[in-house]
Amino acid sequence: MPECDHCLLEVSASRAVYDEINGDEKVFCCQGCRGIARMIGEEGLEEFYRRRNSSWTPGPPEDRGFDASSFSGAIRYGDGDAEVDMVLDGIRCASCVWLTEKLLMKTDGVTAARVNYATHRTSVRWNTAVTDIGKITGRIRSAGYTPKPFLANVHEEELKSQQHDLLIRLGTAAFFSMQLMMYSIALYAGYFQGISPGTRQALQFISLLVASPVLFYSGTPFIRGALRGLQNLAFNMDVLIVTGAGSAYLYSIYQIFLGGEVYFDTSSMIITLILLGRYLETGAKGRASEVITGLLSLNPKEAVVVRVPGSGDGDHGTYDREYVTASVASIEAGDLVQIKPGERIPLDGIVIEGESGVDESMLTGESRPADKRPGAEVFCGTQNLFGNLVFRVTRTGADTVLSRIIKTVEDAQARRAPVQALADRVVGYFVPAVLLLSVGTFMAWIYYGRESADALMTAVSVLVIACPCALGLATPLAILTGTTRGASKGVLIKGGDIIETAQKSDTVVLDKTGTVTEGKQKLLSHEGIGMLDDEALRLAASLERLSEHSISRAIVDACGEMQFHKIDGFTAAPGGGVRGRVGGKDVLVGSRNFIGAEGISGSFDAALSQRILSEAASHEQAGATVVYLSFEKKLSGVFVISDKVRKESGEAVRRLKEMNHDVIMITGDSASTAAAVARIIMLDDDKVMAQRSPVQKAEEIEKMQQGGKTVFMVGDGMNDAPALIQADVGAAMGRATDIALESADIVLMTSDLRLVPYALGLTKKMYAVIKQNLFWAFLYNIVALPLAVTGTLHPIVAAISMTLSSLSVVGNSMRLKRV
Ligand code: ADP
Ligand code: MG
Repeated sequence: MPECDHCLLEVSASRAVYDEINGDEKVFCCQGCRGIARMIGEEGLEEFYRRRNSSWTPGPPEDRGFDASSFSGAIRYGDGDAEVDMVLDGIRCASCVWLTEKLLMKTDGVTAARVNYATHRTSVRWNTAVTDIGKITGRIRSAGYTPKPFLANVHEEELKSQQHDLLIRLGTAAFFSMQLMMYSIALYAGYFQGISPGTRQALQFISLLVASPVLFYSGTPFIRGALRGLQNLAFNMDVLIVTGAGSAYLYSIYQIFLGGEVYFDTSSMIITLILLGRYLETGAKGRASEVITGLLSLNPKEAVVVRVPGSGDGDHGTYDREYVTASVASIEAGDLVQIKPGERIPLDGIVIEGESGVDESMLTGESRPADKRPGAEVFCGTQNLFGNLVFRVTRTGADTVLSRIIKTVEDAQARRAPVQALADRVVGYFVPAVLLLSVGTFMAWIYYGRESADALMTAVSVLVIACPCALGLATPLAILTGTTRGASKGVLIKGGDIIETAQKSDTVVLDKTGTVTEGKQKLLSHEGIGMLDDEALRLAASLERLSEHSISRAIVDACGEMQFHKIDGFTAAPGGGVRGRVGGKDVLVGSRNFIGAEGISGSFDAALSQRILSEAASHEQAGATVVYLSFEKKLSGVFVISDKVRKESGEAVRRLKEMNHDVIMITGDSASTAAAVARIIMLDDDKVMAQRSPVQKAEEIEKMQQGGKTVFMVGDGMNDAPALIQADVGAAMGRATDIALESADIVLMTSDLRLVPYALGLTKKMYAVIKQNLFWAFLYNIVALPLAVTGTLHPIVAAISMTLSSLSVVGNSMRLKRV
């Protein structure tokens, strides 16, 4: 039978719908699929079909009823635009996420769209003049997904009620199973001591009554899962469980009428024990994501807004101010918020008044309080310790650093590790094989003349023992626990695939400025050549004012109240320096190479006196950076900038070497400055690469990769993006800024370089736990199966040991909570 070209369901030729899309003849199972495939073709999004993989479950879209007006409460209107959070029904795989995002971005008027794979939560922002919620939801529905408004509490409650539901089913199952045990014991005793056939049958009927709710009520989740699987011709674990419990149940009913033995207790125990395993498992998952819910709960609901009558800005007279308690949701960027000692900061912003220490450990893992005074940034969720602060709100809602971190962690936990894909594939073959094996066992036992009851119980044991529950749990639980642990220590790992690459990396490349060193440079000295010292400084600072580099900050900060020149045509040469024009004349500031090549007409050395040359050399040998100014093609100034090596850097490098990593430092700075820094952190000269531009840094990494190395690169995320992307794993250091979250695989939330060995150690541990989990889960199946086939294991014992194997996977994964 042909498959539907959209949903992969098999279709009979008589019911199929045919269409021609972009010149290709296509077949579909229904008009719904045809419509979606048409739209995908018209939008040029066929890549969807290439992206989706084995995780896609076949089947046409379902329409689950829709009411666009239900969104009105969830829309937040801004200045000319609006934003909504919704949940999408019908997302089946990562390519669905891709498709919806692409489709929304191709919709006129939509300015931002993001779908979370784990929670199916979708945020869309649009221009209210161009489009509206009706058109946007219509677009999503045309792709086969049904949007619902997202309400945070509803979602959380749904999760809770799921767990509650599981508990009630488990309680019911346990209660009735106990009863059944008693009847079984009575029946068993009667077997030896003699029992009247009437009593016996009565007891068996009662057993049937008691076993039925266990199978049909407590077992509903398994039955539903099995049916869903069978509809799609996918044999899942639920199929094994339901076949096992169900065949014991049906066979027993048959035996009541024949006057034989019944096995209702087996049927019920299988359901009860497996429910117990599932319940414990959801508990473990719940605990693992506590950090996220913990982070979410850091958001205060109310805050005190300061209104300054008459002046929205600038002047903050202390007198006629108004203090209003407002809900955080109603506060906008630009508002002023007052924070008292002990309160949590409700939004991101910039301090304009007051001084205090703020505990930022929840964001950065750094336990020392951060100093806050006017001009400092404060972040949502952090705790003000002693002073009073007034800050101006800069970011709200989903834009705050806290929200972004939560989103990254959530997204990461949905990304799969390649080992898991392997395990999933194995499970896919395993289940049908086990079904066959179990049928084979049954037939073999009958063939060798055994009782049909024994044959059936053996076959059920095989089904139960082989159920690869522990296998399905092995990877996700380890990833969930490990990434959560990392996040609480200040290491954000952006996905399961990254763990696998990171743990096998053998080379660690460190950027110098801002990574090995503090990146808080200070101007040590400055000197004009052919002009006054301060005039050289003023020229350089006027230019550097427009740059974001840490060297620029050092030069500008040293100027105090000086008047700046007006600069035209500013450009930055990353890794070299900056250039511009003052009154039509060229000004450049930058490294020796940059100035030598582009800034001056003659030879570089000839332009400097012997004294300056030797002073510059000795500063560089002490680890300082020397940059030069050229004005009108003439060398006009020398600036010495010092930067401190972070005190933890040496220890971090030592630990990395102990872990057998090749540690390399790479920098755009001069060779002698680099060598001086390398000496402090105990790196040999041949492990230092100096004078590399951002692009050359990426090229060096590529060369190492060609030499068979797996490279872990650590940079500050600003001008190191090409290298971070080229490396097998890119780790950005410092706060979780936008760029870092986008371009890096791992974000180190504090500037403590020791987080690098920690992160590598963590990924190694996680990978080890994953492998152990898989090993034990497989081993258990391999050892237990022959026992089951030969009839050595009773089905109840099989169910107990299966639960134990799931628990050992849970327990092993929990070890990651202490890494
Ligand atoms: P790193 O690789 O150590 O992070 P960069 O690649 O940012 O350093 O810069 C390399 C060199 O280029 C610096 O040491 C400096 O000499 C020069 N440079 C880059 N940007 C500037 C700037 N804005 N002003 C002056 N010099 C600069
Ligand atoms: Mg740098």
